[in-house]
Amino acid sequence: MVTVNTDEFERMKEKIAELKESLRAVIVAHNYQRPEVQDIADFVGDSLELARICTSVDAQTIVFCGVHFMAETAAILNPERTVLLTEGCAGCAMADMISADELKRWQQKYPGAVVVCYVNSSAEVKAESYICCTSANGVEVVASVTGDEILFVPDQNLGHYISTKTEKKLRLYPGFCYVHHRIKPQQVRMARRLHPDAEVLVHPECRPEVVAMADAALSTSQMLRYVGASSRHEFIIGTEEGILHGLRKQNPEKSFYLVSKSQVCTDMKKTTLETVARTMELRQNVVTVPEEIRLRAKRAVDRMLAVK
Ligand code: SF4
Repeated sequence: MVTVNTDEFERMKEKIAELKESLRAVIVAHNYQRPEVQDIADFVGDSLELARICTSVDAQTIVFCGVHFMAETAAILNPERTVLLTEGCAGCAMADMISADELKRWQQKYPGAVVVCYVNSSAEVKAESYICCTSANGVEVVASVTGDEILFVPDQNLGHYISTKTEKKLRLYPGFCYVHHRIKPQQVRMARRLHPDAEVLVHPECRPEVVAMADAALSTSQMLRYVGASSRHEFIIGTEEGILHGLRKQNPEKSFYLVSKSQVCTDMKKTTLETVARTMELRQNVVTVPEEIRLRAKRAVDRMLAVK
């Protein structure tokens, strides 16, 4: 991880503030971004919160500190604004596990089934889907769909979690997030042994066995709200380590431990203060979606936003 000394940090902050003014920009950052990146953002949140914020901000340019599918979702919802991704090669390994052609081939086997896609997917996959969901609203989205058979892409673990909360039949595409999937039950057991008074909170992208051992399965925004409202003082966290910054900032009196040290998404960490400033200065990494795909993808995102 790059460390930034205080002088350098202040210099970068000033530069980014000037660029923000000249671009009439808003900076949004995902909860998994580096602490110093979260600190210069106007809004920090999960995919759903950032998708909503991007539709209501008064800005010409959206500077997205996250990974490609997130900036693409902002571009789908804001064709009149310029969307810049703060690191051009920041992608999502899970989103890359399914293409539109693969989805179409899978769909042919189950005519009549409704496609629900996790927002962690490409614009092309969203365009082939009926509705999107996030980890925060997946259960409600699935409940809103007419029809009892659902093809869920690409995350098998989130799909499994949703399937335990509904009577509908979910067929799960075998995608996964490596950051969450590699958290193992024995690591949860060990963390509990080390911190017997702590509550275990995991993301529903974790394996079903890990979710079953947790006290709660929550999206990142739900985790932040849960901890803020809880009278407990210690928490074991099973999601990407970037969330610790927000948790500690909002709850300085509470203690947080990761289930394991490997909860790091390398693509989320590609954005630094330097890449934010460079992206804005050079107006580079503009994310666009071809209009025909954008319109179909937007239908799926709009349906989700209408649910919750
Ligand atoms: S944490 Fe997982 S789902 Fe999120 S961007 Fe990284 S690889 Fe994708």
